[in-house]
Amino acid sequence: MSDTHILVINSGSSSLRFSVYDMRGERQIADGKIEQIGEGAAGPADHRAALAQALAGIADRDAIVAVGHRVVHGGERFLAPTRMDAAALAELARFDALAPLHNPANRLGIALGMELLPGRTHVAVFDTAFHHSLPPAAMHYAVPAQWRARGVRRHGFHGTSHRYVSREAARMLGKTPAETNLISLHLGNGSSVTAVRGGLSVDTSMGMTPLEGLVMGTRPGDIDAGVLLHLLREGIDPRELDDALHHHSGLRGLCGENDMRAVRALAATGNADATLALEMYCYRARKYLGAYGAVLGRVDALVFTAGIGEHDADIRARVLAGLEWFGVRLDAERNHACRGQRAMAIHAPSSRVAILVIPTNEELEIAREVIGLLEPRATPGHAPARATHRRRSDP
Ligand code: AMP
Repeated sequence: MSDTHILVINSGSSSLRFSVYDMRGERQIADGKIEQIGEGAAGPADHRAALAQALAGIADRDAIVAVGHRVVHGGERFLAPTRMDAAALAELARFDALAPLHNPANRLGIALGMELLPGRTHVAVFDTAFHHSLPPAAMHYAVPAQWRARGVRRHGFHGTSHRYVSREAARMLGKTPAETNLISLHLGNGSSVTAVRGGLSVDTSMGMTPLEGLVMGTRPGDIDAGVLLHLLREGIDPRELDDALHHHSGLRGLCGENDMRAVRALAATGNADATLALEMYCYRARKYLGAYGAVLGRVDALVFTAGIGEHDADIRARVLAGLEWFGVRLDAERNHACRGQRAMAIHAPSSRVAILVIPTNEELEIAREVIGLLEPRATPGHAPARATHRRRSDP
């Protein structure tokens, strides 16, 4: 029996990542990353060549029954994993402008996948979809009705990761997702926090685009819109503004480095800018924990995931410092022993709130979503995670 293989494709602007899961046992049987697409001699000429190269490396292509494609932005149209055809693909193009770094390349991956792997079900799985449950008060900006009519609203991102870790967290707590309230912190190059009530996202720190919320590697997170107005009035070129907000803000804007390991190394030399960058990164995250605690009322767990959340014990400790009033007590030893090798609890026995570190696995989650769509009665997310590889993606 070989009809259980799901191919997951994450097609980015210059890279293509793929994995194949045998969903009997959720076993990863192939994976790879093809980089430098269209960037000269080292990489493949274009995405078509990259996907062909990926497929050539997969031994049992006939066993692939369906393909899950990661798509960053589904706008207000795609609220759940969706079977793709030419019409859906054309509709998806409407959201290119909301995620210009990601969506065009995601769409290209779907189009090429449909062409090179005909006869399979192609399913788009959206980073925004988990947040479709945001209640109106969390979904909207307080802006004029005409803007809202034009689609100005909050969407949220990293949904596949937040969904995956919230289901794993419920499993670790011995509860169903529906019984679990938690706050998940996806701390990577792009970072976001989500308040999850009963398995559903009820607030999240990223908004209409992935610029809002936490301090990130190169993005500022929350900023007074008046600052942008001020700069525009002073004559800044909108393209320069765009570039500065996406690529030269956040940790990089504060201290010149965007990779957390480099920021920490710089801070260790006594560099005041790097020290401030670390402090601001942790302060903003802590502020969101307090806010989402107020949103949820009851919090069963805090969950750390992604590059920084999984590996950086010191950042975790600093984010949680002073949150004892919130029922949060870290076990320092367990925290320092935890470097993201596997899911683990790092709270002290006296902690009212569980503190969990859970390596994210967006690709497995995408494969589960595909199975959920193919077999609606299956309950993706309840099977034990046995896959060993994991990946994360960056909006
Ligand atoms: P991601 O976007 O999830 O791949 O996460 C990237 C971020 O995780 C970067 O800021 C890295 O510096 C950080 N990171 C990855 N590994 C480690 C580690 N072992 N210790 C601290 N930070 C790490």
